Amino acid sequence: MALPSQDSSQDARNGASCVSAPQSVCYRFDRLGFDQPERTFRLGIMGGTFDPIHIGHLSCAEQARVAFDLDAVVFMPAGTPVFKLNQQVTDAQARLDMCRLATASNPFFDVSPLEVEREGNTYTVDTLCQLRAYYPPNVELYFITGADAVLSIVKWRESERIADLAHLIAVTRPGAHISDAFKSNMAEMTRFDINYLEVPALSISSSMLRRFVREGNSIRYLVTYNVFDYICRHGLYSQAGGGGE
Ligand code: NAP
Repeated sequence: MALPSQDSSQDARNGASCVSAPQSVCYRFDRLGFDQPERTFRLGIMGGTFDPIHIGHLSCAEQARVAFDLDAVVFMPAGTPVFKLNQQVTDAQARLDMCRLATASNPFFDVSPLEVEREGNTYTVDTLCQLRAYYPPNVELYFITGADAVLSIVKWRESERIADLAHLIAVTRPGAHISDAFKSNMAEMTRFDINYLEVPALSISSSMLRRFVREGNSIRYLVTYNVFDYICRHGLYSQAGGGGE
């Protein structure tokens, strides 16, 4: 298991050769771990483009929270997703707004503007370095994302460092096949601690919802009502090619 050990994350906590500690990370859980240094806290970071956030994402975060005994889950919409530079992605502020609306009613959830506010392309290693530099050592980081994204994680910038900074929770859609060979290869050949979690509600995808809107189909009940209302009021995804295809 690639626990974020004192030694390997020391540089990150100090901000050395890494982005510096932010002033704040989020609203509800900014003080997590500070007042109880003797207790270990588990912070889930839900990374994604969230274009748009849907009930599959919310269900993933909730199931991961319970399954891995997380104290909180912070949604982290990517500012400029690096693997989508040739795709049209909805304005980051709109994706952030929708995340805030969708998560507001769950006291274990929060949203961070860290990646949206950081300049340049979004790299997960920078985010984890910032979080490691911000939170005390008794806060363990669990990066939650789609299993499809995890398949390419060894190609991400400074992937070995990611392995030292956070545990991973890879959420799969029903029927999505992650081969045993991939799992054992990752376990034997890398330092990643990857935990797999199948979530039935994840058969919904953001690309499906964008297509539904474009084709005049309804996405009501597939996103929270306030997100549905936001998409309608701002006319998101209704143009051909709008919102990233
Ligand atoms: P993506 O390619 O859009 O997502 C891959 C698949 O995983 C999609 O089916 C997506 O479904 C699903 N997914 C994405 N995030 C999820 C989540 N948190 N929970 C459950 N399913 C999720 O991937 P992405 O959204 O651009 O990136 C995922 C995360 O990886 C982001 O935090 C991104 O910054 C990070 N990333 C980092 C690097 C790097 O540092 N070099 C490179 C790539 C990705 P939906 O379309 O329905 O969301």
